Amino acid sequence: MTSEAQTDPPILIRGARRLAAGDAPTSFLLAGGRIAAVGTEADEAAPAGARRVDAGGLSAAPGFIDLQVNGGFGRDFTADPGAIWDVGIRLAEAGVTAFVPTIVSSPAEVAAHARATFAAGPPPGYGGAWPIGLHLEGPFLNPAKRGAHGEDHLRVPEPSLAAEWSPATGVVMATIAPELPGALALIHDLAGRGIVVAAGHSLATEDEGRAAIGAGVRYATHLFNAMPPLDHHEPGLVAALLSDRRVTVGLIADGFHVAPSVVDLVWRLAGPGRVSIVTDAMAALGMADGRYVLGDRAVEVADGTARTPDGRLAGGVLPLLESVRNLARFTGCGIAEAVAAVTTTPARLLALTDRGSLNVGGLGDLVLLSDELSVEMTFVRGRQVGP
Ligand code: ZN
Repeated sequence: MTSEAQTDPPILIRGARRLAAGDAPTSFLLAGGRIAAVGTEADEAAPAGARRVDAGGLSAAPGFIDLQVNGGFGRDFTADPGAIWDVGIRLAEAGVTAFVPTIVSSPAEVAAHARATFAAGPPPGYGGAWPIGLHLEGPFLNPAKRGAHGEDHLRVPEPSLAAEWSPATGVVMATIAPELPGALALIHDLAGRGIVVAAGHSLATEDEGRAAIGAGVRYATHLFNAMPPLDHHEPGLVAALLSDRRVTVGLIADGFHVAPSVVDLVWRLAGPGRVSIVTDAMAALGMADGRYVLGDRAVEVADGTARTPDGRLAGGVLPLLESVRNLARFTGCGIAEAVAAVTTTPARLLALTDRGSLNVGGLGDLVLLSDELSVEMTFVRGRQVGP
């Protein structure tokens, strides 16, 4: 799969500043799908045939990583897992270089089909954001907090239903409601296989949340959404997840799923290292305002939200870059810190040692940003894929 990128000519990016303040402009040599050299070594090592990119005035950042993408551009991964490659191409235009396709609660065959699609790899010549592996959001969720998940598809934790799940079979994340019978044993089992286990769609108490973290939960799936609010007498799952330093919390920073002031509070508690910003993108991501029927759901897209006919939020439609901007705006943090919430932090959570930074030897996943934080160029595995 990487052989495609390795046939691409080397690229020398010159004059880009790293996002961290105060750095002098520098060079990056992308070759063999990786960051082959940085700084003067990049200039010296670039072969004569390398393509040269003048990045003067631009900032270089690691490519963005989105841990929760249900679909986009009219396609839904649960209904149509084959869409991950087409959607990946579009995501890359906006600076996303890696993502975790998320499959909502569905019959076991659906997740199996998605795993097979992922395992089969991209179409020849693929140039888009790279799916890291699947996030199975369900089916072990609390029916009382199911959100958009179909009630018929929810299950009580049952080891046999998850017997095939592992990073080797394409499952890198799983969301489970910790209070369900059998959940703790399953969390322990899945975490032991190397899956990042998340708590979500849950009515767990604080004690149940702590027990889940003890069993191996390391992530909060869209903190605050589909779980009881933080109450000072009954702190609940939110408090358990926020107060344990082992846990990274996922936030939808569109300004609607979580109020800006609460994003700011979470950032003060857990930022910058433990907050990951996700889109939770649904099929209407990237589509113009209007009414759509996507799969079996009617949604109205307007002003950065998608809502069901009765006015409930139906998933995210705000691009990841816009969410990064929001994070900086809501919290007052610097752009470099905000970008870390979609680069360093998700990479560390998923133990992706060759992504989320601009280190020599890492994958050539890089974005060039303007001072206004627009994506000027996206590189995935050393190849320019957008805009
Ligand atoms: Zn959800």
